Amino acid sequence: MSRFDLHSHSTFSDGLLAPAALVARAAARGVDVLALTDHDDVGGLAEARASAAAAGIKLVCGSEVSVSWEKLTIHVVGLAIDPANARLTEGLAAIRAGRSTRARRIGESLAAAGIPGAYEGAMKYVTSERLVSRTHFARYLVEAGVVREVKDVFKRYLNPGKPGHVEHAWATLPQAIEWIHAAGGQAVLAHPGRYKVSKTGMRRLLTEFRAAGGDALEVLSASHTPEQFTEFATYARLFDLRGSTGSDYHGPGESWLDLGGLPPLPSGVVPVWKDW
Ligand code: AMP
Ligand code: MN
Ligand code: MN
Ligand code: MN
Repeated sequence: MSRFDLHSHSTFSDGLLAPAALVARAAARGVDVLALTDHDDVGGLAEARASAAAAGIKLVCGSEVSVSWEKLTIHVVGLAIDPANARLTEGLAAIRAGRSTRARRIGESLAAAGIPGAYEGAMKYVTSERLVSRTHFARYLVEAGVVREVKDVFKRYLNPGKPGHVEHAWATLPQAIEWIHAAGGQAVLAHPGRYKVSKTGMRRLLTEFRAAGGDALEVLSASHTPEQFTEFATYARLFDLRGSTGSDYHGPGESWLDLGGLPPLPSGVVPVWKDW
């Protein structure tokens, strides 16, 4: 049976490894099929694709699209997309465009909370001139000794109600799904267990996702507990969605789960790769 890891990041967004190094690591970890899914961009896919051939693994072209839904930011992973599709690349460019202004405002908000120089500090960690993210701020806040670890930053900063939070309008849910479908891909609701919603809210989200043409649910994710693997396998069956799996790997020392580190998809869930 092939080992799938369908969610990962490179230096083309907020990952620590260049696409070639990421692919090499996936191959060394026994991954047979890897999707590179950088946030709101497809820039790393050419390098990833070229190195996958040499490493003897299959590379699935992907992107993780930022979406504003109700009061939340959610993520929709597009898998098996054509990275050259103009509808997709123009859509992604449009939602990337606001990131620089947002970053300046994040810096101002942190300065107002007594943390100066965060914008300049975050910029040192940016590895693609096309994309600055909260992760880059988180890395600087760790460097500055404000917080011990990247994952702890988000408990005190950069999230709603906390210093460094800035409202931002990403794509709508129907837009994200439409761009992914235009590029021939499948739309996967990423790490659903991370969204702060009630049971009713989750049902509303899944209903809207399904109605907008969404294809699959990320049942297995490093963000999920084993109980949530079961919970979202049930949701996938209930809402007639396929199931996906992804470590959401960002890099050594930062992600607790390595590439390919998740168990097999629970039985009864139709894999998103069924027709690949
Ligand atoms: P952005 O797209 O700029 O809003 O940044 C979102 C990124 O921040 C995510 O893709 C994660 O890499 C990171 N992030 C958000 N919340 C957490 C968390 N609780 N722990 C670790 N990383 C997080
Ligand atoms: Mn990220
Ligand atoms: Mn995400
Ligand atoms: Mn991700």
